[in-house]
Amino acid sequence: MTAPDLHALSAGPCWCEDGFTRQLGAGFHVDLPAQPLPEPHWVARSAALAAELGWSDWLASDDALALLSGHGDAGLLATVYSGHQFGSWAGQLGDGRALLVGEAETALGRREVQLKGSGLTPYSRMGDGRAVLRSSIREFLCSEAMHALGIPTTRALAIVGSALPVRRESVETAAVVTRVAPSFLRFGHFEHFAHTAADPAALRRLADATIERYFPEHRGSAAPYAGLLETVTRRTARLMAQWQAVGFCHGVMNTDNISMLGLTIDYGPFGFLDAFDPGHICNHSDHSGRYAFARQPQIGFWNLHALAQALLPLIDDQDAALAALEPYKTEFPDAFLAAMRAKLGLASARDEDRDLVDDLLRRMAADRADFSITWRRLAAFDSAAGAANTALRDLFIEREAFDAWALRYAERLRVEASVDAERAPRMNRVNPKYVLRNHLAETAIERARAGDFTEVQRLQRVLERPFDEQPEHDADAAFPPAWAQQLEVSCSS
Ligand code: AMP
Ligand code: MG
Repeated sequence: MTAPDLHALSAGPCWCEDGFTRQLGAGFHVDLPAQPLPEPHWVARSAALAAELGWSDWLASDDALALLSGHGDAGLLATVYSGHQFGSWAGQLGDGRALLVGEAETALGRREVQLKGSGLTPYSRMGDGRAVLRSSIREFLCSEAMHALGIPTTRALAIVGSALPVRRESVETAAVVTRVAPSFLRFGHFEHFAHTAADPAALRRLADATIERYFPEHRGSAAPYAGLLETVTRRTARLMAQWQAVGFCHGVMNTDNISMLGLTIDYGPFGFLDAFDPGHICNHSDHSGRYAFARQPQIGFWNLHALAQALLPLIDDQDAALAALEPYKTEFPDAFLAAMRAKLGLASARDEDRDLVDDLLRRMAADRADFSITWRRLAAFDSAAGAANTALRDLFIEREAFDAWALRYAERLRVEASVDAERAPRMNRVNPKYVLRNHLAETAIERARAGDFTEVQRLQRVLERPFDEQPEHDADAAFPPAWAQQLEVSCSS
C-alpha cells in the first residue's frame, strides 16, 4: 500500500508511509479520490492549532488551500464502521463524507488529518458526501473551544468554503472542515467487525493494532482486551464528567460518534446550556430525549456495554468484560465531584460536598439559572456576606432557598479557612466566562452566509481564552437574547 505522495508541500505536513489506518489494510477502508470543492476560499483557520503542529507557514499557503479543499493529488481513505443509533442497531455506516488525508509527523506527535465534507464515499448511503457551511462553522468553533476548555476533543484546523450548492431543508453552500486527531477510531469500528462483518480475525487485528499504538500499557499483558476496555471505560467516564461540569450537551451519542480515545468527536446538534435544565435536549431530532443533558453519563455507560459486547469474542469471558466496565461506577462520580469541588473553589474534600453540589444544582434547575453565569459569578462570592451576595442571588427566584444554600457554602469555606482573594482566581480558571452558546454561533453563521467571515474569526479568538475576562467581549458572556430560545438545531448538517 503506497502512502499519499504529498511531496509538494515543502514546509507543510510530513506524511507517514505507515499510518495507522492505512496499515490496517483492506477490509478496514477504501482508497478514494476526493471530490474537490470548486473555487474554494478560506473561511477560518486555527492559528493556534497550526502553531502547535508546526504548520503555521504552510497553512498560509495556496498549497494548503488546495489540499484542504480536496484538490491534492493524494489518495484518500474512507473507513468502515457500524453502530447503534438512538439505542437501536443500525448496521453498517462508515465515513460517509469524511476522508482521511493521512497521518503526519507533527510537533504534537503523529496526527491523522481528515477532510469532512469532501464528497461521496461507498458509505454515504442516502447522503451527498457534503457538509454545509453552517454545520462546518459549528464544528470548527466548538472543537477549538472545547480544547481551550481543557476537554479532550478532535481538533479543527480550518474551514474552506465554496459556492457549491448543497440541499438540506433549504439550499445552502458547501464547506470542508479539516479535523486533526491522534485517531478517529470509534466504538463503531469494533462493533463493525464483531457484528456486521462478523470477522473475529479482523476484530483481533484491529484491537491488537489499537493496543499497540494507542494503549501500549496493555501490550503483552495477560488480558489485553479487557485492559483496553477498562481504559476506554475510565476515559469515557472522565470525559462525561467534563461535559457535565461545563454544561456541554453532545446531542447524538450514537456508538458511531463515540471515540475510542475518549475524545469529543462528531459535533452536530450539540449545545452549551444557557438556563440550567437537566432535561435539556439540544438535538431537535431527538424526540424521546435519549440524549438529554442529564442522561449523558448513563448513555456513556450504555455505549460502553455496546463496546464490551463487540470485544467479547476477544475477551472470551463475560464476567471479565463486565468487570472491565465496573470502574465507570466510581470513575464518573469521582471525576464529577472533583470537577464540582474545583468549580466551588474548594481545596479540600469533605463528605458533605456532594450534598452542597446537588443542592446548588437543584436550586439552579428549579430557577432555570444560567449555567455559565451562575458558576462564573460564584467566584466573586464574599464569604463574609453570606446571603448578601446580590449579583449571585439575583440569578435565583426562590431567594430564601438560595440564602440557605449560600450560608452553607460560606460555612463550608470557613471550615477550610478559604481566602476569598485566593479562591476567586482559582475558580475563574475552571468556570469559563465564554462558551459557544447557540446564539453566538448563529450570529457568526448568518454573517458568514452573507460572505463576512470576520465574526467567525472573532468568536474563535474569544473562545480560545474562555477563562480570561476579555472585558471588550463582555457581550459574548451575557445572558442569551430572547430569540435564542427559538433556535432549533437538528441532525441536518
Ligand atoms: P452522524 O450522526 O452525523 O454522525 O452521521 C451518521 C452517519 O451518516 C455517518 O456514517 C456519516 O458519515 C453519515 N452521513 C451524515 N451526513 C452525511 C452526508 N451528507 N453524506 C454522506 N454521509 C453522511
Ligand atoms: Mg458521525
